[in-house]
Amino acid sequence: MESLRELYRIGPGPSSSHTLAVRNACLYYLQHYPNAPRYSVDLYGSLALTGRGHMSDKIVEKVFGQDRVEIRFIEKMYGPQPNTMVFHTLTDGRQENEMVIYSTGGGAIAIEGQDNVVDDTVYPQKNLKEIMEYCAENRLNLAQYVYRYEPDIAEHLSAVLQQMLAMVRSGLHKQGVLPGPLKLEKVAGKIYQKAISCEDEKTRKDLTITSYAYGAMEENACGETVVTAPTLGSCGVVSSLVSYYYENGVSRQRLIDALAVAGIFGNLVKTNGTISGAVGGCQAEIGTACCMAAALASYLEGLNSRQIEYAAEVAMEHNLGLTCDPVGGYVQVPCIERNGVAALRALDCMLYAKYIGEIRENRVSFDMIIETMSYTGHKLAMELRETSLGGLAVLPLGRSEEKDV
Ligand code: SF4
Repeated sequence: MESLRELYRIGPGPSSSHTLAVRNACLYYLQHYPNAPRYSVDLYGSLALTGRGHMSDKIVEKVFGQDRVEIRFIEKMYGPQPNTMVFHTLTDGRQENEMVIYSTGGGAIAIEGQDNVVDDTVYPQKNLKEIMEYCAENRLNLAQYVYRYEPDIAEHLSAVLQQMLAMVRSGLHKQGVLPGPLKLEKVAGKIYQKAISCEDEKTRKDLTITSYAYGAMEENACGETVVTAPTLGSCGVVSSLVSYYYENGVSRQRLIDALAVAGIFGNLVKTNGTISGAVGGCQAEIGTACCMAAALASYLEGLNSRQIEYAAEVAMEHNLGLTCDPVGGYVQVPCIERNGVAALRALDCMLYAKYIGEIRENRVSFDMIIETMSYTGHKLAMELRETSLGGLAVLPLGRSEEKDV
């Protein structure tokens, strides 16, 4: 497994695969060919089908300069990955210096013909079973396991924590409508106001967490700086729980430890399955975010490593089959609401692990559920994997409104 730095990335919304990775790819290409008069960027597959809604073109223009780049959306597959970019320099209309770059999920990129440029394997264990065995042999808890292999990671996690708290806070204070044809009103602040006026404690807690998830996701939808956990489309799940625990007095150090624990689960899915909606559907993004949040909450509530595994496994098991079909290609419907639902579900998973785990042992391991999620993702129709060609994405709301763009 790679460093947690490659899982938790700070960058511009609204999509890790369609904006953050695209930005990284553009910067990489520009670094290699800095002096060309002009450039062309061809966006293939899911990048073409949902790239406008995900602001892929805007980020390309931002890196190269609007007048120095030609962008083409080509709605077919190129190579093995659903998210592919083909770069050229343009000199007197001649295309030269071709480079093919894949967006592989969570903001990561891979260059065709080269090893993954972000390859940074630091954890030798290949799955959770091996991690648990190593921890048992060395008397480590899961947070200590992370620090054993990444002694300097706390600094990065501290910056991640800071940005998560900032994006939630900022989202709660914004008003107006989100970019795009859906004209969705920003409602995080209103949900929060409703939450604090509730007398019932459980409702107040649930609505507060929901408002935090909406705050982060509304920031993401506006292209503000957010944090992949494990992706940007699912960035509200972990950040809402982090904010909730922070506001309820949990120390920064403990939250950093909890992010380390959550990171193990996100990293395992990323390594042994996929965190890309274009590859595995929304179960890969929101399902993984829900696992991470369930692990985070379980750690903070004092559950042991086996119980943490139980919570994370339940979180994925009950997101299996979740499709990625954002309306109009915008990371808004169902994405924003889905983050709120997943944050609350993560707490339910923690409760199941704490109470039901004592009554009956969980027979499905976390390693098993990753394999099942990957299998299920490959069985999902292409229309339901971030192409906006089917499911919710083609509801009349999306289609009729999109014509107005
Ligand atoms: S439906 Fe899920 S995977 Fe697809 S863009 Fe929205 S949050 Fe991401």
